[in-house]
Amino acid sequence: MASLNIPPLRIALFGKPGAGKGTQAEALKGAFGLAHLSSGEILRSEIREGTLLGRKVEQYVLRGEIGPEDLITEAIIGYIERKHSSGGYALDGFPRTLYQAEELDGRFPPDLCLLIDISDEEAVKRLSGRYTCVSCEKIYSTGASGKPAVPSCERCGGELRRREDDTPEVIRRRLRVYMEQVVPVISRYREKGLLETIDGALSPRLTGKKIASVIAGKISGNRGFLA
Ligand code: ADP
Repeated sequence: MASLNIPPLRIALFGKPGAGKGTQAEALKGAFGLAHLSSGEILRSEIREGTLLGRKVEQYVLRGEIGPEDLITEAIIGYIERKHSSGGYALDGFPRTLYQAEELDGRFPPDLCLLIDISDEEAVKRLSGRYTCVSCEKIYSTGASGKPAVPSCERCGGELRRREDDTPEVIRRRLRVYMEQVVPVISRYREKGLLETIDGALSPRLTGKKIASVIAGKISGNRGFLA
């Protein structure tokens, strides 16, 4: 789809692990020129580089837990401020707690929140059968062989591996964190009238089409937003 001439849109994507937030955020780059800001990806890159932040959050990320709130919130909001304060983006994985949502709303309030909805069963099935590129984090699902169809990343040539937190125990914990911490954030944005829910059980392409039509509707239907 051609890029649209639209004002910078700040979108927050919500959904259980495996719902397809990353895949859809990547699609939004092409369709709407939005940057993809994944808090998990930012933290994993800090861990790989061995930065102070990376060392402080590593154990939490491996366990699928929320790490030190202030530190992570400052890091992600600081990242938006430095790199994306005037452009549009899709946030993936942030805000994840009410504290993070309050801080974000005070600085860069989202224009639109999208919940990509899947069942727990579907989340576990998807995460248990996926490989991720260690360099660019492109996701590969597995077929009957239990391995991805290609030996290395089609996009960057990187090595494909299972993510360390895609184990049954950590997946269960991530789903619990989602229910306890993220669901109240979703309710907050629903109450503000900013939330749209999309069925994430459809194919990535169909889910993407629905998301694109929600965004197009938001742009054309909201003069205040366009001003
Ligand atoms: P998923 O949504 O599939 O569980 P992410 O890649 O978004 O995975 O996040 C991976 C891990 O990184 C989380 O389990 C958590 O430990 C950490 N993390 C990501 N985003 C945040 C955040 N906003 N606040 C605290 N921890 C986070």
